[in-house]
Parts: sequence; structure tokens; C-alpha cells
Amino acid sequence: MSKEVIITNKIVISCNGDDSKGSNHPKVWLKIKETENFIDCPYCERRFSYQPPKD
Ligand SMILES: [Zn+2]
Repeated sequence: MSKEVIITNKIVISCNGDDSKGSNHPKVWLKIKETENFIDCPYCERRFSYQPPKD
């Protein structure tokens, strides 16, 4: 099973899982730590990877 990685430019993101999997996943808010640049959702194990906006 490959890990789903979601690229985001926000440090606080919400995840409510994948409805098609019918998992018991509440909506959660996750904050990416500046020291790590990513966070794994504890429910669905999606990885949110922080990429600063390019401007
Ligand atoms: Zn999740």
C-alpha cells in the first residue's frame, strides 16, 4: 500500500479521510511542525507535506 502524500502550502490543514473507504475518521485539524515540514494523519496515514508558496 503506497502512502498518499498531499502537498500543501498551509501549516494547518484538516483531514476527514476517504469516504469511499468508510473508515472511522473524524475530521481532524493537523499542524505541520516547522522543524519537520510534514505531518502524518493519525487516522488515515496520509502525509501532508508543506511546500512554501513560490512568489
Ligand atoms: Zn486523515
